[in-house]
Amino acid sequence: MIDFEFEPQVVNQTRMYHSVAEQMMRPISREYDEREHEHPWDFWRAMWAASRNLGPAADSGKADKSADGAPKLRNLYTCLSTEELCWGDAGLFLSIPNPGLGGAAVAAAGTPAQKARFLKRFAEGEPKWGAMAITEPGCGSDSAAVTTTATRDGDHWVINGTKIFCTAGQMAAEKSEGFVVVWATVDRSAGRAGIKPFVVEHNTPGMTVVRVENKLGIRASDTAMIVFDNCRVPADHLLGSAEVKPTGGFKDVMATFDATRPIVAAMAIGVGRAALDFVRDYLTEQKIPVRYGVSPRRLTAVERDFMEMETHLKAARLLTWRAAWMLDMGMRNNLEASMAKAKAGRAVTLITQKAVEMLGPVGYSRKILVEKWMRDAKINDIFEGTQQINLMIVARRILDYSSKELN
Ligand SMILES: Cc1cc2nc3c(=O)[nH]c(=O)nc-3n(C[C@H](O)[C@H](O)[C@H](O)COP(=O)(O)OP(=O)(O)OC[C@H]3O[C@@H](n4cnc5c(N)ncnc54)[C@H](O)[C@@H]3O)c2cc1C
Repeated sequence: MIDFEFEPQVVNQTRMYHSVAEQMMRPISREYDEREHEHPWDFWRAMWAASRNLGPAADSGKADKSADGAPKLRNLYTCLSTEELCWGDAGLFLSIPNPGLGGAAVAAAGTPAQKARFLKRFAEGEPKWGAMAITEPGCGSDSAAVTTTATRDGDHWVINGTKIFCTAGQMAAEKSEGFVVVWATVDRSAGRAGIKPFVVEHNTPGMTVVRVENKLGIRASDTAMIVFDNCRVPADHLLGSAEVKPTGGFKDVMATFDATRPIVAAMAIGVGRAALDFVRDYLTEQKIPVRYGVSPRRLTAVERDFMEMETHLKAARLLTWRAAWMLDMGMRNNLEASMAKAKAGRAVTLITQKAVEMLGPVGYSRKILVEKWMRDAKINDIFEGTQQINLMIVARRILDYSSKELN
């Protein structure tokens, strides 16, 4: 049986996140877009308790069961709350204190003891952030080309290299008791297999945030450039096993993305829905009808555009829910996560551009948030694998090609 209804407590929780989006995020949305790099501490403190329940399940890739044996569906529910909060503001959503991508990497690659140790802090004390640093000046889409090195020295690893575009990097590295998960090679000759994740604790000597980017969109979220200069971390900060196996290592990066791509897709859907809702209200106000059930030949251009926007959004949402649900079930979702991410990234870009277009000069003006949503949308087509890279992963999986055969 296929059932698209959620249980009452899930519906109530989703409504609660919608109220947060409406009452706490929308009122400060423009302010923190314009005051990039300023910190919304009142909002962060208020969200600190709630944000602990966000993010992928601690054991991503394994079915998470409740006491009665029913799957807990934490990844799916995270997509629901993410959509609501990004309907409020995607930049503020990304800035919320939580384990973030760093937490997802610990969940995907860490041992049970490491998960307990590094993630425990997010249930207590002051607001904290986790971040993940893969991208480098010479390596983005081809994440296997990481040049940052980790060299063993006694009971420590010594990390050297430069990471760029690290979301929440500054908050995780310097401004809270958080951590950055850094991907570095322990053996250049081993290629992908030599790339391992390391937890670098906040304020570790040798880790320096040298720049925070000025951006087109999601301006409330900090995006940092971090230099590692002889940065020493204890040996047990390497997540998982230090052994370099020909088939191992890099699969943890991929496992992290399988968990985070549905969430990024849900972010895109939230922004797209914000624009769609705005256009719907505007058309209602202007008494411009959108007639359903009418022959396509009789539709106006506005009706056709609006229905097309709705269709893209709904298709993206169904793909996203499926990818997250598969993860909750312990199923391999690599194909579905990339499908959802690629579709949602494209959908939100189209929807928000169309919304600006349909609203005319009002849409282009800073009086309303639609132009901001258009700027916030584009990142969903870039981080966590660009549109092109996700489509390539889909093609590889469908055609059964390896990454060497299709790149
Ligand atoms: C706001 C923001 C936040 C980010 N947060 C993080 C973070 O927290 N952690 C982190 O590690 N990184 C982060 N990134 C980096 C992001 O993941 C990379 O920008 C992304 O992976 C693309 O890499 P690149 O910028 O080097 O582009 P490139 O890899 O140089 O790609 C440039 C263009 O070429 C295309 N392209 C590349 N290879 C192929 C191919 N084989 N086939 C077809 N087309 C191709 C790409 O799709 C893209 O359009 C962030 C980036 C931004 C902008």
